[in-house]
Amino acid sequence: MRIILFGPPGVGKGTQAQALAEKFNLVRLSTGDLLREEISLSSPIGRKVEQFLRKGHLVPDDIMLEIIDNILIENKDRDLLFDGFPRNLNQAHSLERSLAQMEQGISIAFEMHLEEDELVKRLMNRRYCPRCERIYNLITNPPKKDGVCDDDGVKLVTREDDTAEVIKKRLKIYEDETRPLVNYYKLLNVYKQIDARGNQDEVLNRITEIVNAYLNSKCTSN
Ligand code: AMP
Repeated sequence: MRIILFGPPGVGKGTQAQALAEKFNLVRLSTGDLLREEISLSSPIGRKVEQFLRKGHLVPDDIMLEIIDNILIENKDRDLLFDGFPRNLNQAHSLERSLAQMEQGISIAFEMHLEEDELVKRLMNRRYCPRCERIYNLITNPPKKDGVCDDDGVKLVTREDDTAEVIKKRLKIYEDETRPLVNYYKLLNVYKQIDARGNQDEVLNRITEIVNAYLNSKCTSN
């Protein structure tokens, strides 16, 4: 099974991806986490991409496609969850081609949807643990102890790109570059829109229902 999760910044994509991967034993490929890790290691890729992330711009496709192709090869026999990839049509076409070479395709492409004022509110209140990458929201999902991660006690941080100015830019980039994926995945008959309102469990239940229906349909068709 290969699932794509996409949606505007702040929609709760990362949180849902973590929960979904655990629930269905999927390998979660978060390109954002991967890039942030490269930056924190100050690796050659990290140094190349740092400015793009800081400004809220997309990293150039050639860098992203190389990263993804390597991951696809490493995880050829695993069920995958793409969190944050593809981000534009070129990346989507390329993913399709790479999967086709392995006689695979996309099972479901989820687009998470939420109104813009709610997105901005969520982003301004987002904090994350730089060690385990767990995501918190100061209003809807705060840590038990102020400012530190429940799991490892590490001090929570604000992402550098969660500032009002960069958030605005990222939302615009989403509209211009990523939103066209909706029609693309509709044409491939794998598109599902998810209402991202409500708490984490409510949203996860909506996604889970669709994944279970997909798995059942696979069982009956085999
Ligand atoms: P995310 O954690 O998914 O919000 O991603 C954070 C940032 O990483 C984005 O604003 C981009 O700068 C970069 N990024 C993540 N995934 C991609 C991708 N598939 N293509 C280009 N840039 C990406």
